[in-house]
Amino acid sequence: MRVGILGGGIIGLSSAYYLQRAGHQVTIIDQDDLQIGCSTGNAGMIVPSHLIPLASPGMISKGIRWMFNSTSPFYVKPRWSGDLIKWGYHFYQHANKEHVAKAAIALKEISLFSKSIYQQWAKELPFDFEYHERGLLMLYQTKEAEHEESETAHFANKHGIEAHILNSSEVQNLEPHVKVQARGGVFFPGDAHLTPQLLMSQLIPYLKHQGVVFKTKSTLTDFIVESQKIRELVSSTERFSFDEVILASGSWSGAISKKLNVNLPMQAGKGYSLLTPIQKNIQVPSIFLEARVAVTPMGNNIRFGGTMEIAGVNHSINMNRVKGIVDSIPKYYPEMSIPMPLQSNVWHGLRPCSPDGLPYIGRSKQIKNLTIATGHAMMGLSLGPGTGKLVQQIIDQNQTSISMEAFNPERYN
Ligand SMILES: Cc1cc2nc3c(=O)[nH]c(=O)nc-3n(C[C@H](O)[C@H](O)[C@H](O)COP(=O)(O)OP(=O)(O)OC[C@H]3O[C@@H](n4cnc5c(N)ncnc54)[C@H](O)[C@@H]3O)c2cc1C
Repeated sequence: MRVGILGGGIIGLSSAYYLQRAGHQVTIIDQDDLQIGCSTGNAGMIVPSHLIPLASPGMISKGIRWMFNSTSPFYVKPRWSGDLIKWGYHFYQHANKEHVAKAAIALKEISLFSKSIYQQWAKELPFDFEYHERGLLMLYQTKEAEHEESETAHFANKHGIEAHILNSSEVQNLEPHVKVQARGGVFFPGDAHLTPQLLMSQLIPYLKHQGVVFKTKSTLTDFIVESQKIRELVSSTERFSFDEVILASGSWSGAISKKLNVNLPMQAGKGYSLLTPIQKNIQVPSIFLEARVAVTPMGNNIRFGGTMEIAGVNHSINMNRVKGIVDSIPKYYPEMSIPMPLQSNVWHGLRPCSPDGLPYIGRSKQIKNLTIATGHAMMGLSLGPGTGKLVQQIIDQNQTSISMEAFNPERYN
């Protein structure tokens, strides 16, 4: 079949990988040149440990507290937007224990599935993307964070995800080359990391070589729909006709799906990252819990990433929040500090956030030749290959490798 994929981030590329291998004629359409998108500058963590979605008990009160701090890691920009109000309402409805219990089962299944594909890719793909299985350390300095993270560790162990609660010297033992200042931490040995810019920049030419067609700098503007099927895609550069269409347009997917009368509540969660040369040899990727900053060793560099600004699809850089990231570094690694970067050296990405923290993956009932694969929020890199394989199974009407119920893309219709 001729399959058109809207969006060339990790979800679009992973879908293309499996669809092309299954014998389809695949075209990726993207408004950008695929150099600096959300799938490139992220923290590179592969996180089966992340069982708890953002919509969880306590998040609303924490979010309100953080809204009044200009350097805080989480921020919802108050604005009159019907989409934001509806999204916030759905978020509120899901921020409870019952939802967390259900979501954890679904997230664990898709995370482990996707990680198993990364293990396979690391062996089979003809290029290296620095995939390492060294776990993840969640570092905390306050009693409050210790309590919260210990609960998370118990929750993870109960769900079969290994987690160890460590005191400060046990944390230090895991990082022999850098002084760590923490009350303690939780270690998730099953997590992994990779260098996303290496993965993305090599996967694109690899797919081209396999026959996938890339139409970049081509913005989807409209659809021609007939008898509940997309007959044509209208872009800024040309018109396309496909048998099957995959919507993998990240944070833009909500606005695009509106053109098809499909309701996909979505908010962009902006985050920033900084790549700096290695100062100290950090072994294990970490998250500074109080600051919500992710630290990942990537070759000869270290990436620091963080913040979640729900402020619409825009590309402004809030240097106050970047300062929050920079200031957190010597608090946790007292021998390390980095200068405040120029605004032009700060990377930003827009995480596609569904209100319940679960991705949208599945075939649309309203538009018969549309499959949706988006809304992976903080876990898109982790869940990319798994999602790509599921998309191919859906298109080929194969039995899916995991249960898909929780990811129904039309659950808000
Ligand atoms: C600071 C930060 C750190 C992160 N760290 C991690 C991490 O450690 N681990 C993890 O798993 N995830 C992480 N993430 C999240 C992850 O990066 C995202 O979930 C993931 O990149 C989303 O991939 P995607 O393919 O859905 O979207 P994108 O990568 O945004 O791709 C969507 C594509 O669609 C294109 N598009 C949109 N509209 C149109 C249109 N109208 N026409 C044509 N093309 C269009 C866009 O140009 C874009 O290229 C992080 C994110 C941030 C911001």
